[in-house]
This record gives sequence, structure tokens and C-alpha cells, in this order.
Amino acid sequence: MASDSTATLDKASSTELQSILWFDPTRILIDGQWRAAASGQVLPVENPSTGGIMGQIARGGAADIDAAVAAARRAFEGPWGRTTATERGRILMKMAELVLQRAEALAMIEALDVGKPLHQSLNDAKALARYLEFYAGAADKLMGTTIPYQHGFTVYTLREPHGVAGIIIPWNYPMQIAGRGVAAALAAGNSCVVKPAEDASVSTLAFAAIAMEAGLPAGVLNVVTGLGTEAGAALSEHPGLNHLSFTGSVATGQRIQAAAGRNVIPVTLELGGKSPHIVFDDCDLDQAMPTLVGACMQNAGQTCSAATRVLVQRGLYDEVKRRMADMYRGLVAGPAADGCDLGPLISARQKNRVSHYIELGKAELSVAAEGSIRADASADGHFVRATLFSEVPPDHRLAQEEIFGPVQVLIPFEDEAEALRIANGTVYGLIAGVWTRDGGRQMRMARQLNVGQVYLNNYGAGGGVELPFGGVGHSGHGREKGFEALNGFTRIKTVTARHG
Ligand code: NAP
Ligand code: MG
Repeated sequence: MASDSTATLDKASSTELQSILWFDPTRILIDGQWRAAASGQVLPVENPSTGGIMGQIARGGAADIDAAVAAARRAFEGPWGRTTATERGRILMKMAELVLQRAEALAMIEALDVGKPLHQSLNDAKALARYLEFYAGAADKLMGTTIPYQHGFTVYTLREPHGVAGIIIPWNYPMQIAGRGVAAALAAGNSCVVKPAEDASVSTLAFAAIAMEAGLPAGVLNVVTGLGTEAGAALSEHPGLNHLSFTGSVATGQRIQAAAGRNVIPVTLELGGKSPHIVFDDCDLDQAMPTLVGACMQNAGQTCSAATRVLVQRGLYDEVKRRMADMYRGLVAGPAADGCDLGPLISARQKNRVSHYIELGKAELSVAAEGSIRADASADGHFVRATLFSEVPPDHRLAQEEIFGPVQVLIPFEDEAEALRIANGTVYGLIAGVWTRDGGRQMRMARQLNVGQVYLNNYGAGGGVELPFGGVGHSGHGREKGFEALNGFTRIKTVTARHG
């Protein structure tokens, strides 16, 4: 993928992207300065709706990561470390305001770069602002405790930032994931170095430009674009970090955790899932129906918390299958900027990966229904048809492995015990949805599902920034979002004073 500045630009889409940008995407942000990568090299920026090259980003590497971590350290040990929580909150609030002012431009950048339908990318821009607002408000409400102890002692805890946080973000929700990491890290008083995904870096650069405009001091937020195996690996292995957070695949997460282990630093991993959506016979099916499909199709199924397994009790199974199949036949994939149900997948690589799963499913399972691709969509865009498989054995690869595309499997079950066994029967455990009117069953399921979030008679609740989020098992560990994330970005110091 690496190229020099001679990469061929797709003229039309290039002009479209360039006309939106108010910063130079071939620069990285280190110590408040926009500079070229030390290598002088760049990488192409692709529009997944057309396969055209729209521009370039810098190919940062180990030397840039070194400089970024050093800048973050200076900021943390300098003025930023002495900034009051109220001031940090004010800067984050200013960033939120500027994000909202530029929401449409940010949404267009994301639609062009990631292939996300415009209404979804606009939602991501607003979510970025919400993370900034939420953590702006939380910054001066982070407190330690006093602990009753022996006579003659006063004991209290201080909640302190770790120092320099490394944040590695994936390509599927760049604005939301940069927002939840950076806003929480900065609210707690850390400085940070961010490595966005090679395929989706432009909106993170835009966010960094906004942070500079809002008056965030130099070195507090540094952004180094580049390849995962170069800039990403250099960041995760850097001995100058005090905390690492990663969202992405299990395989890369395992490398990240090993690197954090060598440096003995805390690490938060959010590694996706195979989340179940469980429908009991006694549910309000009309209410459940739209979410059964919608909770997977958002972002063309490239969502860590996508409801990819739909478990349906026997009494409703045929009806759910028929109604979902009808909905699937209406799902249209097309260019992101046109606001179709589904945009393209992020890359040719991801399309191959998902198509391979669909072919495997077609060879071994029954297809209940497929969606379509708009006739005028570019043949070079990375589109796939939404595909629903039915009567899928719970141990089939399509019911066990994360596909990360618009593919769902329908699995019938007889009773609560079987639903639980199937739901908990993967290596993952991120979120689960349960549809039932039985209050006792709601409570039993909520307790026994091995996941980080349970939704009762809904799924995802609009992804609220207030709701602690993270997984168990191969879905990862540590919690992002909500107040809980601030615990991860801080450490406790216990102060014990003997005064007689
Ligand atoms: P990935 O390799 O895990 O990428 C995630 C992030 O890690 C990106 O910023 C990537 O940079 C970086 N990275 C890659 N190799 C690295 C390394 N050796 N050291 C440090 N950082 C590294 O994911 P992917 O290959 O793009 O996607 C593959 C699969 O992962 C998907 O099909 C999906 O199943 C899963 N996934 C899950 C999530 C989620 O939200 N949980 C998000 C994305 C993907 P580059 O992109 O620049 O290489
Ligand atoms: Mg792109």
C-alpha cells in the first residue's frame, strides 16, 4: 500500500475531499506542529465507494512515534500536568463546540474516506461532540476518598492520571473511538499519542486540527498516521507510555497486550464480538423487528457490537425468518454520500474477507434472503449484498467467527437454558439483546449472559456515551465510555498520615 507522492489521484473524488479539508492531511501533529513524516513518505487515501484515490496521508514510523511520545511526556510534566480539572473541562467543551460547528464537514470526510452513509457519519460526528461534552463535565468530578483507619491516622486516596496514553483506533468508527479515548484520557489529565487506522485517518487529523483551534496546549494530543505494523507497532511497544488502549481485531489485540506486558503498563482492549440478539416467544415482536436487522446493518455490519447472531424461540422462528427475509430483500448497498441503507466495506481486503464467509455460508447453509447493490454503483467500490442465513448450527463458523460485514445468522432455540447456552457459546462476550415480557427472565438473562452490556427490549440504545462498554473473553477487557472509563485512565494513590 505504501507509495510516494506519484500515486495516481482519482480526479473527481480528490477534488471533492480536498474542497472539504481545512488542514493538510499529509502532515502529522507532534508537539503542536504539523509536520511531514520523518520518512518523507505518504500513503494513499482511498474512497471505498469508488476505489479511487482521493489524496494522501503521512507514513509515520518509529522516529515520529518517538518524537510524539517525547512531546506528550513534556506536556504532561509541564503545564498540562498543572492544569486544573476545570480548565481541562473548558478546553474539551470548546472542542465539542467546534466539532458541532464542523459536523457536516466531518461527516462528509468520513462518508468519503470510510464509506459510511452520510446520516451515519453525521451521527458519528455528533457522538464525538457528546464524548467531549460528557468528559468535559466529568473532569472536575473525579475524586478520591477518605478511608476510616486506626486512631491517629488520616488516610485518603488521590486519583491521578497515568501520564502518557497511547490510543490505537480502528477504521470502523474513527470519530467515535478517537472521541471516547482522547476525551476520557485528557479529562483525567493524561496526554496522549493517537495512531488512527491507515484506511481511515483523515477524520482523526480533522479532530486534531479542531483541538488545536480550541486551544489545547502543544504536545497534549499528538496524532501519527501510518501503517499498523510500523507506527502502530512502534507506539504499542514504546517504553515511554504509561497506558495503552486499543480497539480492533483479536490477533492485533494479543500483540498489543504482549507489548504492554513487556512494558508492564495497563492496557484496555476492545476486540469485537459475535453478539446475540435473543427473541423469546412472549416478546413484542413488532417492536423488536426493526432492530433485529438494524442492529447489524449499521455501518454495513462493520461494528464491534453488531447483533450478528439472531436467536429465536421456536414458536416465533418462522415468522421472524419471514419478516427478516422481507426486510433483507429491501436492503440496498450504494455510494456512501447517497445515503443508501449500506455503504461499501472499508477496503478490497475486507470485501474479500466478508465475501469468503458468504461463499462458505452458501456452500454449507441455507440463504433466507439477500439484499441488492445499486445498479449504478461503481464496480470498483467495495460493495457486498446483505445476506441472511437460516437454521444455522450454533457451532458453525458463521455462527462463531466475527465476519464484520452485513451478514446475520438465524438460530432457533427451544427454551431459556438453550438460549443461554448458545448465547454464551462463543469465545466472545461484548453485548447481548434480549426480547421478552417476562420480568423474571429479563433479570435471569441479564445476570447469566457473559457479556459487558445487556439490553432488555432494545439493542444498543443509540450507543449512549454515558454507558460503560467493553467485553469479556476474547472481546477484551477494561471499560470505555461513561464514568467508568475515567477509572481506566487514572490510578489510585493511597496517602496514609500518622499524626497522633
Ligand atoms: P487491526 O489490525 O486490529 O487494526 C486495528 C488498529 O490496529 C489499526 O489502527 C491498525 O493500523 C493497528 N494495527 C495493526 N497492526 C498493528 C500492530 N502490529 N501493532 C499495533 N497496531 C497495529 O484490524 P484490521 O486488520 O483492520 O481488521 C481485521 C478484523 O478486525 C476485522 O475484519 C474485524 O473482524 C476486526 N475489527 C474489529 C474492530 C472493533 O471495533 N472491535 C475494528 C476493526 C476491525 P492499520 O489499520 O493502519 O494497519
Ligand atoms: Mg479511505
